[in-house]
Amino acid sequence: DNLSEFLYHSPMPSIKVLPQDIVSKIAAGEVIEKPIYAVKELIDNSIDAKSTQIKITLQDAGLKRIVCRDNGIGMDKDDLRQSFMPHTTSKIELAEDLYNIQTLGFRGEALSSIASVSLMTIRSRQKDSDHGYQIEIKNGQIENFQPASMAEGTEITIQNLFYNTPARIKFLKSEQTELRLITELIISYSFAYPEISFSLIHNDRTIVDMPLGQTLETRIKKLHGEGHFNYLLKIKNNFEYLEITGYVGKPQSAATNSRKQFIYVNNRRVYDKNISYLVKETFGSLLEPKLYPSFYLFISLPPERVDINVHPRKEQVAFSEDQMIGSAIQNTIADAIKSNDIKYYDLRWNKNQQDQSQKFVLHDGGTATYTGKLLKETTNTWSLKNDINETSKVAQFHNLYIVSQTKKGILLIDQHAAHERILYEQFLDEYQKLQDKKEIQVLSKPLLLEFSPDENVALEEHIISLENIGFKFQKVKNELYLITIPEVFRDRDLQSILTETLDDLTQSNIFKKVDLKTDKMLSYLACRSAIKAGEKLNTSEMENLIKKLSETRTQYTCPHGRPVQVELSLDELHRLFHRK
Ligand code: ADP
Ligand code: MG
Repeated sequence: DNLSEFLYHSPMPSIKVLPQDIVSKIAAGEVIEKPIYAVKELIDNSIDAKSTQIKITLQDAGLKRIVCRDNGIGMDKDDLRQSFMPHTTSKIELAEDLYNIQTLGFRGEALSSIASVSLMTIRSRQKDSDHGYQIEIKNGQIENFQPASMAEGTEITIQNLFYNTPARIKFLKSEQTELRLITELIISYSFAYPEISFSLIHNDRTIVDMPLGQTLETRIKKLHGEGHFNYLLKIKNNFEYLEITGYVGKPQSAATNSRKQFIYVNNRRVYDKNISYLVKETFGSLLEPKLYPSFYLFISLPPERVDINVHPRKEQVAFSEDQMIGSAIQNTIADAIKSNDIKYYDLRWNKNQQDQSQKFVLHDGGTATYTGKLLKETTNTWSLKNDINETSKVAQFHNLYIVSQTKKGILLIDQHAAHERILYEQFLDEYQKLQDKKEIQVLSKPLLLEFSPDENVALEEHIISLENIGFKFQKVKNELYLITIPEVFRDRDLQSILTETLDDLTQSNIFKKVDLKTDKMLSYLACRSAIKAGEKLNTSEMENLIKKLSETRTQYTCPHGRPVQVELSLDELHRLFHRK
């Protein structure tokens, strides 16, 4: 009764037209949700203005101030007055133009959206004029307009972003996180436009500096490291109207997150789950299920074959023939893998043939050795290669599970989780020793570390807990060196363990500054140092793993809480076979 009372008798609010300033704040909220999206729109505009130098200067991760300075074609007096008004653009005129977009921007809403949630100053000077103009905008209104002396190009300053929509600020992640996102953004532009110089400066510190005259290759080396670059295979292919170029990473360079996956359509970075999936599928059994291959994929096609107008931030596109494009991408990548003599097993082929018996032949035939290095190269404290009698019954299945006979029945073990548990306890012990005796190893020769700028930001965030464990770093000029390590890390591939651990730390949402614990760091380090799923183990390695596992204090879960081993008792087996 209460309900019908409510439904039929409460007065219906009348519909009202929202005032323009609320409308524009709502629109701005859709597009400019975080500082990174403002930076992205500014860079798009600078690129559309044919700039060859773009410099981004931030204060407080962009919340206090964002300045974008370019050397592009600039705007004249009238255009400057128009530029920040809603729905004003110099890039399209007719509805048909939407199907032939050659520029990054076209909706004419970025500057007006940003202006409605910040204080904006635009200074701009065209090539042949002897001075420029400066305009200040507050609440979408011109506050000040005057001539300005400046070099050619445009400089847009955004101050106090979200000052009039404070709720927005509450939803932002930490400053370090927002900064890392912007750093990744600048990196992604640097790859797409090697002919443009990019720099990013945060609170007076240079974070990215990519000068003119570099190639894509140099930029990947500089930004993602030479080590990473050495794992990349070049790709280049033409199909009908389509061109696919770039790089794809060998399985060794795959990561647990998709941060080194770059897809560009006509040089616009997009996020396309389908394409990412197709690339991964092409690798078939060469990649563990949970890993993401790295790639830098540049897809070029005539603008009328692709619709950019399908996403508010233009981060997704729709292709007129996505099946054709999908298989073109897969063929390109399959060719690269095959021609580089990586043992290749084509899952797609298998799918068509319906021949499941093929599935494990290559898998066991050595293709999975790519991850074997961690266990096999080491002879240190946690090496599993001690001699053990080979008479007991153990076997490895799918390069992932170990089955062994016990007195009571059979034991199923997840090799990765088990090794992780073992290492984690070793690290804890080591850590305890370190706390007691300060037992660290000073490297005889400091190790030059290569981190990408975003990884550097993450390192700064977590450096204290790394130092607590015994890692000490030193900066010499712009190079970062590792000078001490915990004893237990002797002879390990420190660069990749640290890189992967930093990746984990930035991925994990629970790992915030407040609950920053050495313990978590240790568990991540254990995970990154452990043998992986997909590694082939020989009998003595398996037995050693079982033996060491039996010596750990908590044998049943990995540091993240997943089960390590499951035992099936004879009773249970008998019941399954109706023997009881
Ligand atoms: P859009 O990029 O979709 O056209 P914007 O609101 O981003 O819309 O920009 C509006 C207009 O302002 C652009 O069409 C362009 O003419 C001008 N403009 C913006 N930024 C720059 C710049 N850095 N250099 C030259 N012109 C610019
Ligand atoms: Mg724009």
